[in-house]
Amino acid sequence: MTGLPVADRGTVRRAVGRLLRRDRRTVVLLLVLHAAAAIARLAPPWLLGVIIDRVAAGAGVATVDRLALAIVGAVVAQALLSRYAQYAGHRFGERAVAQLREEFVRSTLRLPVSVVERVGAGDLATRSSVDVSTVGSTVRDVVPTIVICTVQLALLFGAIFLLHPLLGLAALVGLPSIGVVTRWYLRRASPAYLAEGAAAADLTEALTATADGARTVEALRLADDRIAHGTTRIDRLWQARRATLALRTVFFTVVEASYPLPVAAVLLVGGYLLHTGTVALGAVVAATLYLQQAIEPLDRLLQWTEQAQRGFASYARVLGVGLVPPEPPGGAFPPGGGRLVVRGARFSYADGPDVLHGIDLDVAPGERLAVVGPSGAGKSTLARLLAGVDAPRRGSVSVGGCSVTDLDPAERRRRIALVTQEHHVFIGSLRDNLAFAAPDASDERMRAALATVGADWSAALPDGLDTLLGDGARQLGAAEAQQLALARLVLADPHTLILDEATAALDPTTARRTERALAAVLAERTVIAIAHRLNTAHDADRVAVLEGGRITEIGSHHDLLRAGGAYAALWRSWHAEPRDTASGDTERPHTVGRTGADRRPRHPDLA
Ligand code: ATP
Repeated sequence: MTGLPVADRGTVRRAVGRLLRRDRRTVVLLLVLHAAAAIARLAPPWLLGVIIDRVAAGAGVATVDRLALAIVGAVVAQALLSRYAQYAGHRFGERAVAQLREEFVRSTLRLPVSVVERVGAGDLATRSSVDVSTVGSTVRDVVPTIVICTVQLALLFGAIFLLHPLLGLAALVGLPSIGVVTRWYLRRASPAYLAEGAAAADLTEALTATADGARTVEALRLADDRIAHGTTRIDRLWQARRATLALRTVFFTVVEASYPLPVAAVLLVGGYLLHTGTVALGAVVAATLYLQQAIEPLDRLLQWTEQAQRGFASYARVLGVGLVPPEPPGGAFPPGGGRLVVRGARFSYADGPDVLHGIDLDVAPGERLAVVGPSGAGKSTLARLLAGVDAPRRGSVSVGGCSVTDLDPAERRRRIALVTQEHHVFIGSLRDNLAFAAPDASDERMRAALATVGADWSAALPDGLDTLLGDGARQLGAAEAQQLALARLVLADPHTLILDEATAALDPTTARRTERALAAVLAERTVIAIAHRLNTAHDADRVAVLEGGRITEIGSHHDLLRAGGAYAALWRSWHAEPRDTASGDTERPHTVGRTGADRRPRHPDLA
């Protein structure tokens, strides 16, 4: 499966630059405060050197006391400056993370539906959870730490050079090995962490698919397959983690070994300079203390470099979501709508074989067309083409002469509504759930819409439209969720409705009553219903029979019965089954195509 894109290094660097520029004043304040704190930190070792030199020169207790007091002052000043610097750093971090999350949500919402379906839930879930929080902690903790450490190191090494250039040079002895190993590490770390992220996403994807398809797994006895599938992915993740661990092992070993070198070099050079009388003992002591002080920021800098790499890799994945081209803004919906026309439409999923082989269809405004056919004939695929979710590989789908896929996406979704069995009940009130379809609808309209679709349960809710739905609140059953989706449809009042087994979760009598009520409310709307109950076809103006990706029959219910073809055979077999309603209505549990119970969100891994 092709996943979502990953941003290249240049794009990530530019994004980091933008992040820093956006909060320029805080960044400058951060730098100034940290520099001041680092300067205050330089004072104690230097003052200690001065004490040693003065005592050696015979100075009294009063001088030592004065200098010791100055050391205390420097320590207090450093503590205060560091506190404010950290506060500024965290403010910057929190603001940047908040912006990042907002941008991520915006990018995710802009993703075309077909892309989300293609890449699967795992990749997006990992990016929105693991990657966003890794970037968050990097920006919040790592960036300020790197700034602090860099400033401190620059000042510490600068101070040693000021004491004596030769001491400064000796202090640099450990840096080449650290530099070489850091370059070696950085070059390998980014792809290794990206591979680790991709392996983690793959594992999430596999586990989510197994959990989502648990019933199918159980019914088809796929448990062993799924365990093997999961184990392979766990294995891949383990290997990816081992690769990153191997990099860290080399990196940190070389770095740890490089720390004692400069101290030894400074003591050697310092001893020689002391011997020649070029520097005082205090200067050598101060230089050694500075070096000791440098170990901590250097250590932190290197450790955080690793975290920064992870953050960089995660940021590349987070930014990648924004690189998916959004659905291009398209043309306006033709005024007054017009005929829905399909000409020679062929379609295949990804690089697979065609599942629709040249569909021709012409539906007049206000017409009701039922599409029937065996399971796998391509009914749902046709529904997706009609709604513009997918574009035909060949041929065209147009409304009022405008190609459906060229319409503005928001406008298209508003005017051509596709209702399937996969409804989502959002956590929020019943009103919130309905307002998605019509933000300005009054309570009265909302209640009327619920009544139209037979959602009698809604009238009995304790808090009416304010009742909270979703996890931890009132849970809706499949039939109730379906009615909620249909009520949204009534409120949205689209020009064309495509119902893909949209009443399958309702019992047959309620389904037929709901379909008739919908038809009355949405009179003059074009309705294309993928029918799994043949009475839907009976009620329609025309019926199209889809078999093996082709329309084999089309006409009114009565014409098709007279013709004695596939539809007539279906109708006869449907009628031959025992009635299941006491009312004598022609309701049957018989279905054409998959039923509500066995229809689950299709997942390629389980297909
Ligand atoms: P049903 O009544 O079972 O829902 P249908 O008539 O709606 O069937 P479709 O769901 O459109 O048929 O499927 C038509 C063909 O396309 C089938 O062979 C199916 O396996 C294939 N197909 C459907 N969805 C996908 C997908 N996302 N990826 C790959 N192949 C798919």
